Amino acid sequence: MARVVILGAGIMGLAAALRAAQLGHHVDVLEVDSRAGGMAAHLDFAGVSIERFYHFVCRSDAMTFAIMDELGISDRMRWVPTSLAYYIDGRLHDWSTPLSLLKFPHLDLISKFRYGLQMFLATRRRNWSDLDALPVRTWIERGSGRRVYETLWRRLLELKFFEFSEDVSAAWIWTRLKRVGTSRRSLFQEELGYIEGGSETLVTALCTAVEQLGGRIHLSRPVQLVEAKNGRVIAVHAGDRIFPADAVISTVPAPLLPELVPDLPDDTKAAYRAIRNIGVVCVMLHLRQRVSPYFWVNIVDPTIEIPGFIEFTNLRPVGANIVYVPYYMPVTHEKWQWSNERFVQEAFGYLRQVNSTLRETDLLDSSIGRLRYAQPVCGPRFLETLPKVQTPIAGLQAADTCYYYPEDRGISESVRFGRLMAEAL
Ligand SMILES: Cc1cc2nc3c(=O)[nH]c(=O)nc-3n(C[C@H](O)[C@H](O)[C@H](O)COP(=O)(O)OP(=O)(O)OC[C@H]3O[C@@H](n4cnc5c(N)ncnc54)[C@H](O)[C@@H]3O)c2cc1C
Repeated sequence: MARVVILGAGIMGLAAALRAAQLGHHVDVLEVDSRAGGMAAHLDFAGVSIERFYHFVCRSDAMTFAIMDELGISDRMRWVPTSLAYYIDGRLHDWSTPLSLLKFPHLDLISKFRYGLQMFLATRRRNWSDLDALPVRTWIERGSGRRVYETLWRRLLELKFFEFSEDVSAAWIWTRLKRVGTSRRSLFQEELGYIEGGSETLVTALCTAVEQLGGRIHLSRPVQLVEAKNGRVIAVHAGDRIFPADAVISTVPAPLLPELVPDLPDDTKAAYRAIRNIGVVCVMLHLRQRVSPYFWVNIVDPTIEIPGFIEFTNLRPVGANIVYVPYYMPVTHEKWQWSNERFVQEAFGYLRQVNSTLRETDLLDSSIGRLRYAQPVCGPRFLETLPKVQTPIAGLQAADTCYYYPEDRGISESVRFGRLMAEAL
């Protein structure tokens, strides 16, 4: 039995804690925030408990289902027919079925055929080795042509990744397309899921299970130092407490590690620092009426500086209309300094542009979630740049959401990784 200290009570940290406790270890989880859940945590908004950041589940999220089964909460999964749209040139275009692509007025027939084929093959593909070295632009232009990239992709990538938009790996985009593309009831009906009660249902069940096995979850407990001696971890310092440790599993954003673990070799520190992330300012709006019938709307419009919005309550009904407008950006972008009010004003103005029947008085409430390390930027051959999960310090493993490249951030993958690290103890 080892004393295992886990940094971070997000899904990965909690999944690692549960597995380590099941294996009989003494587990302490240290979390800077006042609530568990990390990116999947909730807040109270519009009279309901809801995710700070929108969360949906896809049919391929195998590890989400596995852990829900283990925790006895499988009956809380719900599946809903959903649809996607593009807003281009002042109009919403349904984008849910092969017919939508045929009717779409902004592409010629050959481009539509090539794009449809490329997307279909992407959902069938299993191997990503030949996509690993390609930037997404090259992949889309080779498969579907430049017109498709310019019409459907360029602006979305630029408004999410800004100066990094030409450096996003095709393998990473492919896993995103495949995850959503295979979450369908039929060719003509996309179907996405949510957990009844939101992702907090999973977080709470994880915390309860960890504590029932004797593990302890310490909230509002920021880790300041992972102490090593003779090349092996011995303790974690957090606030006024020192937690002796035989093993440490870090799930905090990897670029924080050089400060937290001063004993790491310089080349490992440099590799963690080199992992690029973009932040997110996620605007939540409580509205008197719906903006659209769609769950997800992509926006390609030169007058609108957001890549889209998520009308979350078209997926998970909570008795109020709640829309998320995520502003992803490098934290060096000038907008990162904007006040919350300015973001709300701009975001609501854009929604009114999409749906001109929305009035000023339809905005009932708003809230903003900010996250500095919201999305790793995974360029071609990304894995080759990452330090190993087992760090050069014996007993210290470290990973964050970029470690499951080419998969994108996701609850399912964080569960898988957390468990793997606990099993490697
Ligand atoms: C806007 C947005 C939308 C998303 N949508 C979806 C979705 O639809 N479906 C889906 O499956 N996934 C989605 N995700 C991704 C999903 O939320 C994440 O993959 C998952 O929650 C990551 O969990 P984690 O534990 O790996 O990381 P995190 O949740 O980041 O956990 C790391 C934890 O470490 C803590 N920490 C940091 N520094 C310290 C310190 N010094 N001391 C102690 N603790 C510290 C943090 O507070 C945090 O709780 C979304 C994420 C975002 C941001």
